[in-house]
Amino acid sequence: MSRVILVSNRLPVTISRVRSGNGQRLNMSSGGLVTGLAPLHARGDGLWVGHPGEQPNEETLKELEKQRLVPVEVPTREFRNYYEGYSNSALWPLFHYFFERCEFDPAQFEAYRSVNERFADAVAELAKPDDLIWLHDYQLMLLPEMLRQRVPGVRIGFFLHIPFPSSETFRVLPQRTQILRGLLGADLIGVHTYEYAENLQRSFRRLLGIETVRGQLRYSGRNVRIQALPIGIDTDELREAAFSKEADRYLVELKRRIGDRQVVLGIDRLDYTKGLPLKLQAWRRLLASSQRWRRRAVLIQLAVPSRENIESYHQQKDEVERLVGEINGLYGSPGQVPIQYMYQSVSKAELGALYRLADVAFVSPIRDGLNLVAKEYVACRDDGGGVLVLSEFAGAASELGESLRINPWDIEGTASQIERAIEMDYGERQERMRPMFHRVVQNDVHRWVERFMSSLTEPEVEEVQFPPSLQSQVLAETLAPQLATAEKALLMLDYDGSLREFTERYEDAVPTDEILEILSALGDLEGVTAYINSGRDRNTLTEWFSDVPISLIAEHGLWIREAGDIEWRRMGPPPDLRWKEIVRPVLADYSNRTPGARIEEKSSALVWHYREADDALGEWQALELMSVLEDMLSGSPVEILSGARVIEIRQQGVDKGRAFEFVNDSQGPFDFILATGDDRTDEDIFARMPEGAYSVKIGGGQSAARAAVGSPGSLRRLLRSLIDVRRGVDQNGAKPA
Ligand code: UDP
Repeated sequence: MSRVILVSNRLPVTISRVRSGNGQRLNMSSGGLVTGLAPLHARGDGLWVGHPGEQPNEETLKELEKQRLVPVEVPTREFRNYYEGYSNSALWPLFHYFFERCEFDPAQFEAYRSVNERFADAVAELAKPDDLIWLHDYQLMLLPEMLRQRVPGVRIGFFLHIPFPSSETFRVLPQRTQILRGLLGADLIGVHTYEYAENLQRSFRRLLGIETVRGQLRYSGRNVRIQALPIGIDTDELREAAFSKEADRYLVELKRRIGDRQVVLGIDRLDYTKGLPLKLQAWRRLLASSQRWRRRAVLIQLAVPSRENIESYHQQKDEVERLVGEINGLYGSPGQVPIQYMYQSVSKAELGALYRLADVAFVSPIRDGLNLVAKEYVACRDDGGGVLVLSEFAGAASELGESLRINPWDIEGTASQIERAIEMDYGERQERMRPMFHRVVQNDVHRWVERFMSSLTEPEVEEVQFPPSLQSQVLAETLAPQLATAEKALLMLDYDGSLREFTERYEDAVPTDEILEILSALGDLEGVTAYINSGRDRNTLTEWFSDVPISLIAEHGLWIREAGDIEWRRMGPPPDLRWKEIVRPVLADYSNRTPGARIEEKSSALVWHYREADDALGEWQALELMSVLEDMLSGSPVEILSGARVIEIRQQGVDKGRAFEFVNDSQGPFDFILATGDDRTDEDIFARMPEGAYSVKIGGGQSAARAAVGSPGSLRRLLRSLIDVRRGVDQNGAKPA
């Protein structure tokens, strides 16, 4: 087992002053993350690197060392700009969709960068090549890349504990590319939900032009994986506290004070993302509409102090307290208030007693990476008695599907879900709570740690493939003997970017004499069937290739014309092309805005070409257009493909692979098959090649092809060699046709 180095903004201990003298005391911090990671840290000789909070004295330093905790020193002012500044006044609000609270101060980003550098130096000094390094959270998003530069071969995992926002939101961040590139230093990036993983992938695609395939991407010669892995809670520790004697005592006392009123419980850090004002408004709405619940229900709201050095947190506190006062003033009666509000934190036993007491847990964040309170409530309710009311904007909602969902902005709807929860009969409560309880217990924080670590250490289940790049001569030597002895051979050749180099204007890529000669020679070979399988339209192919004895497939497999024929035949039923009416004006709009870009109309596709546009502008517009089209056409019977400086929107189910299968089935079996191509559309053939067939990608990059050659010139050399070999065989009569 490799040594594990954990890295987080804060060390898992708190340094506090001993009242008398200058002494310090070291206490383990509480919280799910610390309990989850503590066993991992305790194992072996792992280290934990982070900021110590307080400046440790000599003695504390020794104690830290003993516990293998490595403090990173940061000057106070720099720490403030990094932590309260960029981390909590830029990243935190933006990632929770609170644009209006964002401050983007370049000096704060500079501090953020500098602190990340300090962490990188500290970790690099300790790290050995076979260590596993696990970095945590939004305060350290530049760290993966910084570490990768310092310790290139080491395995690095990163987990983001807050949401990753939509690419539309993320692109607001002035330092968006630095942050994305920072993350890409990791081998594995973990987030809580599929939605966040999707958002992150979309940002990579849109802002850096990096495609992900099944959660993996290629960056700087390495594979980077993105995985949705929601954190769990420490159920054992929580339940031990919640069902302790101390908790029992609290529970008895609480019950005595509350009487037979229904208890609705809210437990939130006092953070604007938790949506406390909206929650209080929903509670007010319920009280306003129901005399009954004014007397028979109480909201116990614990607001845990948080980030008290940041001004916007003060404002939030004022607003919450004003609302609590207002509602209690309106709907309270002597000795009875409808909201019991506390601004403090409580012990684990008290917390457990509250979870056990509550008939309903009211968890209504406006945005929350996950929300542990929701899981903790569920973990304390194996009696099946409680009801969880949960915001759809909490990451935990994707795992806790049996909860009553709310949109916290819909005050009316939230109030009625709360009423439904209070009134819910025991049978339904049980039916909803049981499956959630088992899920939460099974997927606890220890399981989460295990799963992250095994993802980080195990080789990828499915490697993204990069075919070996070969010289055309080497490839010819491999293929020649097979082709020489084949009874029936099939060649499927892509045209643009494969046989023929791209030209500025796509209509200028007419076949050269060399290409026509190669195709003629291929067409004349006995026992060899050769096709051009192109995305181009029928008319162009007719015009260009009518004089050579070669078969043609047009528009990625929509049309076929065998050598010697005049008529084209359609493969498959006539397509439904209504989507074209929606897409055409959008492409026209992007063409207007992108000098040099043009639209090509095919019978089953529309193509947006931007080869002639300015490089950077073209790329940018194409990424944006892709994302607009993906949203606009989701659920439509079309596919959107990005090729070599083209975006093609085409009828679903029409692809080159299908055309290849049609030929193979109707004219086969072939005992030698070679397919060539350079872009995404050719992958549809490569993916369907039968065993023993050859596929060659032209150019670099990811591909399912068996081999790659560098350029169209190499492919032409390869084809000429193969023609010579086959001709030689024919002439010698060694092979019957
Ligand atoms: N919590 C606590 N002291 C309290 C109340 C709550 O330590 O007085 C804990 C609670 O048990 C939970 C955490 O604080 O584990 C809050 O986590 P959550 O994911 O709900 O919100 P976050 O604070 O991480 O945004």
